[in-house]
Amino acid sequence: MKIYNFSAGPATLPHEVLKQAQAELLDWNHTGASVMELSHRGKEFDAYALEATADLRDILHIPENYKVLFLQGGARAQFAAVPLNILGDKKGADYIDSGYWSKCAADEADKYCKANRIDIKTTQDGKIALKTMQDWQLSDDCAYVHYCPNETIDGLAITTDPHFTDKIVVADYSSCILSKPIDVSRYGIIYAGAQKNIGPSGITIVIVREDLLGKAQKVLPSVLDYTIESKYDSMFNTPPTFAWYMSGLVFKWIKQLGGLSMMEKRNQLKAQALYQYIDSSDFYQNNIANVNRSIMNVPFVSPNEDIDKLFVSEATKAGIIGIKGHRIVGGMRASIYNAMDIEGVNYLINFMQQFEKQYG
Ligand code: PMP
Repeated sequence: MKIYNFSAGPATLPHEVLKQAQAELLDWNHTGASVMELSHRGKEFDAYALEATADLRDILHIPENYKVLFLQGGARAQFAAVPLNILGDKKGADYIDSGYWSKCAADEADKYCKANRIDIKTTQDGKIALKTMQDWQLSDDCAYVHYCPNETIDGLAITTDPHFTDKIVVADYSSCILSKPIDVSRYGIIYAGAQKNIGPSGITIVIVREDLLGKAQKVLPSVLDYTIESKYDSMFNTPPTFAWYMSGLVFKWIKQLGGLSMMEKRNQLKAQALYQYIDSSDFYQNNIANVNRSIMNVPFVSPNEDIDKLFVSEATKAGIIGIKGHRIVGGMRASIYNAMDIEGVNYLINFMQQFEKQYG
């Protein structure tokens, strides 16, 4: 039976990429060894790492005055690394609160500075919504503004690129990076854990504007110091070479499919199909205003918690895995990242229809 994996992360990877990794596992690039057995300082891996970085720059159109780093510690390490790298002599930073992960970022930042929380949650026609950027009440003297464009757990998205002329914007793109084109030049820092749209867990991408380097606090561990990691091409310590390799394969896969405009088209199509079905049904519900619905993570509930539980267990039997909602919100969540194709989403919708017929 074919398995459809809707896990929020680590998440499904492109089948073609997994097949290629499998084929190359024992003998990578005619070296006679697996890529994970080779020195990160050897010429083969070094060349591969540079190519993967160039591919990422190409896909995202990253301007030349930005460094691209491949670090470790997940997005949570970046919650600490950001203030410690760029706070400089400022005392505080603005943290937009749109849900679970942006709140976690603020809580971590509070250890190092005053995280000024700005709650943007609101309602629109009885549904959960987020205030638009022009209504964010930012403070005058903050070191930067931090926000999360895609709240993985809540299924809430902020879809516009920021337009603040005089602010350094930092964004946690963990669950929506590479899902559509973005204007990198509008950001000071973009970071993202890999395990959703990039590759396996264990690697974290940081894209940082060069003028923000050189401001680190003394206590910042060197492995999280953007300036040091830039100098060492993200190899100050041994990088997670296999995760880097897999990420590189995913970048090539995206390029072959037509880049981020094509990814966006595919993602819109999948999300629209799923939301349309949920909205047309009296059995399932998603309580988020259209404008803030995530195209990556689609949370939904059935009429009650017992039926939610039944849904998850019946779905598993039908080959649908990773569909259980996060424990803090319950219900279900379909994560439909780049590697989930429309066939998988249609399979889920079809299962939902059958389930509704039986238990509705
Ligand atoms: N930010 C967002 C938006 C996330 O979705 C996650 C993980 N689900 C994190 C941060 C934390 O990532 P990590 O576990 O890689 O530290």
